[in-house]
Amino acid sequence: QSLALQKLKLGRVQTKDKVDIEVCGNIEFPEEAKTCKKRGADGVGLYRTEFLYLGSMRERTEEDHYNAYSKVLKKFPELPVTIRTLDVGADKIPDSMRAIYRDHSNPELGLRSIRVSLEHTDLFKTQLRAILRAAVHGNVRVMFPLVSSIGEFRQAKMVLRDVCEDLEEQKIEHKPDIPVGMMVEVPSAAIMADEFAREVDFFSIGTNDLIQYTLAADRSDPSVAKYYNASDPSVLFLVRRVLFAARDANLPVSVCGQMSSDPKFIPLLLGMGLRQLSVTPQKIPLIKQLICNISIEDCQKHAKKVYQLDLARDIENFLRGELKRFL
Ligand code: PEP
Ligand code: MG
Repeated sequence: QSLALQKLKLGRVQTKDKVDIEVCGNIEFPEEAKTCKKRGADGVGLYRTEFLYLGSMRERTEEDHYNAYSKVLKKFPELPVTIRTLDVGADKIPDSMRAIYRDHSNPELGLRSIRVSLEHTDLFKTQLRAILRAAVHGNVRVMFPLVSSIGEFRQAKMVLRDVCEDLEEQKIEHKPDIPVGMMVEVPSAAIMADEFAREVDFFSIGTNDLIQYTLAADRSDPSVAKYYNASDPSVLFLVRRVLFAARDANLPVSVCGQMSSDPKFIPLLLGMGLRQLSVTPQKIPLIKQLICNISIEDCQKHAKKVYQLDLARDIENFLRGELKRFL
């Protein structure tokens, strides 16, 4: 790694025209918080908590959750840490939950993620209690995955409120007023982004699922890999729609799917208005360096050119070619 990259590991970055950009890291295990910090993360933008369950037959207790979250928060006592509630199902099924998934023929469209949490509120409450308790150690935000309707978001928030009241009554130390956001990763949520913006404290765009549901191409099925394309104009249209809804409502919005870890999308995303991203920790130095080399004005011109293209292949080639100019 170059000396410039080493230096960039620390501190916030700005574009050439002095616009602050927050670059957080995505983690799956608490141990990764350390690497994330070393790479210069401005916080944890996505903590995928379901990994606490994977590879274990044992039910996870409130203490298991609490200890895992506290460990991450100790590494980031001041910086934001966004904890995502369980996103199990489809490609991530813990052994201890196999029974729930017996008869699902189409798991990506089945009982997964927030749907599981709302169906099994005992599991959900255990996790939420631990999040609220651990929140006293840092700057925690909580978000729900795979939200597909406003009613669903309200229902999840209601469970959170119940949990809060229980902790209050039991006089257990916790932080009641943490920001509550959602992943935008189902097209219905992107389409209704203006309406959701009135209810949530922040958005985090999950492009991995958003691509698969928009283009009807299973993200883990190699036989349809050519249909799964981040450069498809329909996907970019939805991402842009969410960014605009957040801007109009003055809401924080981040992209935490794979798209923001891919340097060729960075100028486009900044041009569309994105100011916060969460990426694979290994990519943080490279992405920060890229951000320092570009100006928002250039990114906006670049984005306008992309809007005029209607073929995923042309968009992809254009983004690739332009990246050389930005690097
Ligand atoms: C996404 O869908 O883009 C995302 C970040 O979540 P996951 O990859 O864990 O489904
Ligand atoms: Mg997802």
